[in-house]
Amino acid sequence: LEPELDLTIGIDLEGTSTRIGLFDAKLVPIASCAIATRVLAGPEACVAEISSEIIRLLESCGGISKRHIRGIGIGSPGPIDLQMEVLGVLPNFPGWDSFPLKQSLETATGLPVVLESDANAAAIAEWKVGVGKQSGENSLVMLTLGTGVGSGFILNGKVWHGKFGMGVELGHATIVPDGLACGCGSKGCLEMYASSKGLLTIARGVAHSELGTFHLKELVERPSGFTPEDLAIFAQSAHGAGARFAYEMLGKFLGIGLANLISTLDPPVIIIGGGLAGSWSLFAPAMFEAILEHSFVYRLSAPSQIDTLEPNRTFICPASLGCAAGLIGAALLPRLTTAP
Ligand SMILES: [Zn+2]
Repeated sequence: LEPELDLTIGIDLEGTSTRIGLFDAKLVPIASCAIATRVLAGPEACVAEISSEIIRLLESCGGISKRHIRGIGIGSPGPIDLQMEVLGVLPNFPGWDSFPLKQSLETATGLPVVLESDANAAAIAEWKVGVGKQSGENSLVMLTLGTGVGSGFILNGKVWHGKFGMGVELGHATIVPDGLACGCGSKGCLEMYASSKGLLTIARGVAHSELGTFHLKELVERPSGFTPEDLAIFAQSAHGAGARFAYEMLGKFLGIGLANLISTLDPPVIIIGGGLAGSWSLFAPAMFEAILEHSFVYRLSAPSQIDTLEPNRTFICPASLGCAAGLIGAALLPRLTTAP
């Protein structure tokens, strides 16, 4: 195939929307679209909708047909049983347990499909075209702080899947013994403190403590609800001390998780992505403080300026691709496995 006609399709499957993108061999986006993910309609119905959307997308490009598509990559919420290439038990996708997503999408589209977890897809994107590329390193860990906490680990140029495809699930590492009950069945998981849900829980706790001001209470008790973005804006205001403290608490919990990760793996690069990474300046100082306090390995490997890239020093930084990472990483999947 000519390079401009050697295309891949990336799919980023999320609880609310599914993004589909057509990319050329240089990862230049050719066309993309987003459809609502009708989780409750079931996985078969969603696969049929994705398949029709792909046909529509190709038709809209004129002159591009399935024979120009090297393959489809799909990033799905984890855990995924990659040994059997089926979905695991997905707390936010009732009725999707053990669904053979790869096989079903291959049958519907007639194209080869590579299935990966969404966090691994984002890690691949940052490794190939984001922070990882800038650093020149072939090993890195990426965390995505969103509704939950996802994590992906690239080891010497390959995704580390573990035995069952669930390796490095840092979101479910215990940070607080007997802490908040997590959807996975354990208590005190990092996800309960360093996700958007966790941040809102922390903020409510601060609002009702001696640090709670009238303005913070008003925000957390708003009948229409509040978001991490609302809290970040409030944190910048004159009355925002409580909100800043909530972000610092998140940074502290995240830092403890990262300290354990660094002491275990000693990775050269750690990238923090997902929606919350946009509030880096609000939580990063507390995060670095906790990492320094809890990781002996990091105290020996930290750069002189904590968030700068220095040779042979642990580099921890925010993601560079933003919310596009999942889609770009998915589009890269068919090239990782079929490239000569
Ligand atoms: Zn958990």
